[in-house]
Amino acid sequence: MPYDPIFADSPGTGLEHQPSYWLATAGVLPPDDGPAPPALDTEVAVIGGGYTGLSTALHLARRGHRVVVLEANRSGWGCSGRNGGFARMAFGRLSFGDMVSRFGLAGAKVLFAHTRASLDNVRTMIREGGIECDASETGYLKVAPKPGRAAALEAEARLMQRELQYPAEFIDARTLQRDHLGGVHSWGALRIPDAIALHPMKLAAGVLRMARAAGATVHSSSPVIGWRKEGVTHLLSTPQGTVRAAKVVIGTNGYTPPGLHADLRAAMMPILSHIIVTRPMTDADVAGANFVTGDVLTDARKLTFYWRRLPDRRILFGGRGLISDTPGRTASHRQYLYRELISKYPTLDGIEIEHDWHGWVAFTRDFLPRIGQAADDPTVHYAVGYQGSGVSLSLYAGRLIAARIAGDASEPVIEAAGHALRPFPLHRLMRLPQRALFYWYRFLDSRP
Ligand SMILES: Cc1cc2nc3c(=O)[nH]c(=O)nc-3n(C[C@H](O)[C@H](O)[C@H](O)COP(=O)(O)OP(=O)(O)OC[C@H]3O[C@@H](n4cnc5c(N)ncnc54)[C@H](O)[C@@H]3O)c2cc1C
Repeated sequence: MPYDPIFADSPGTGLEHQPSYWLATAGVLPPDDGPAPPALDTEVAVIGGGYTGLSTALHLARRGHRVVVLEANRSGWGCSGRNGGFARMAFGRLSFGDMVSRFGLAGAKVLFAHTRASLDNVRTMIREGGIECDASETGYLKVAPKPGRAAALEAEARLMQRELQYPAEFIDARTLQRDHLGGVHSWGALRIPDAIALHPMKLAAGVLRMARAAGATVHSSSPVIGWRKEGVTHLLSTPQGTVRAAKVVIGTNGYTPPGLHADLRAAMMPILSHIIVTRPMTDADVAGANFVTGDVLTDARKLTFYWRRLPDRRILFGGRGLISDTPGRTASHRQYLYRELISKYPTLDGIEIEHDWHGWVAFTRDFLPRIGQAADDPTVHYAVGYQGSGVSLSLYAGRLIAARIAGDASEPVIEAAGHALRPFPLHRLMRLPQRALFYWYRFLDSRP
């Protein structure tokens, strides 16, 4: 049976990184502390060695806390080493207009400020760690793939200008095609001038280095396969033995095993996100598609595509829609992504795909990320449910959890991420309605 986090007890043990463009270009990855020893006592155990877990560990270790990361495979093995490398101001997939609808204008402004702080935190971490992750300050373009989608993007730009005095702008189709991006599905765009395009695996490697240099221990090949409490002490079982900890942080996001903790049981819908990367564009390819923008891109669709031009002139193009992780389905989804790329840029027809890979992102029932504490146990913290847009927020969440554990009230609390997770009904049967929902989304996306 192919790996599916809805059912699997663990994402594996000691697995190598999935082959990807990022792995091929990451260079030599830094060492970690190897598998956890048979017996280990610590103050804080962090489960999961992605951005959430590593950032939590870094910010705790800096404050002098004893912290151990337990990662099933190797650090950055999950989404953190596989994503598109778009660091954006994002709270899930909510636009500012969505934030206003859900939290009122005042609440939306607070939340938007958090998303700005999360992106600033990425900048700070890269600077402080001297992380060489090919980061470039850029913008984010949300493109209207059909003429009928442009008005909503224009309204969003106006709303942000008016209520936030933020320099979002609407770019009309002609300007977009002339200055940023050609193709046949470029009917205008919302431009957010704050984003960072980066190499996600190099970023994960940099945060690993920083965490260890600050005093954290990071154990790979150490899945948590059992968890019980003895008095106030958490006993986490790994294949090697037992880790005893006063506090536990869960940073397993889309790879969370169903039995890991009651508060997360059935609370997340893991969804595959799949990326293809072309060969480098020639001058003629660039000219034909006028793909000159360095901005990171998504489009205004239900089943969103995300894409960018990489520093070596390749196109990275990703999207959702793959439901099960079998070789056959993955191969046909790769073809689907290719067809969608070519439908946007017909002049690129024939361009070779040199890499593709995928990973599991986590959606929640209300589409909101969570940075919380277990209902009946304040010694258990978690940050999950980034809805596929977690580069900035996961690193920030780690910083905020560390502050909470350290009792440092100078760091903010994101109230919109604070309420309890609600389980999905019939969670183990969700792949069937998901398939139907994706067909419905494709139908909606096909409309003008
Ligand atoms: C293809 C793809 C493209 C994406 N593109 C973007 C993007 O461009 N911009 C953006 O903002 N976001 C993007 N995302 C989402 C983003 O990468 C994630 O939100 C973010 O990396 C989450 O980090 P994390 O540390 O919480 O989880 P992960 O990085 O997924 O790490 C979770 C870790 O937990 C480990 N684990 C699970 N169970 C256990 C256990 N029992 N014991 C020990 N370890 C365990 C796993 O092995 C895994 O390494 C993308 C995701 C994917 C898959």
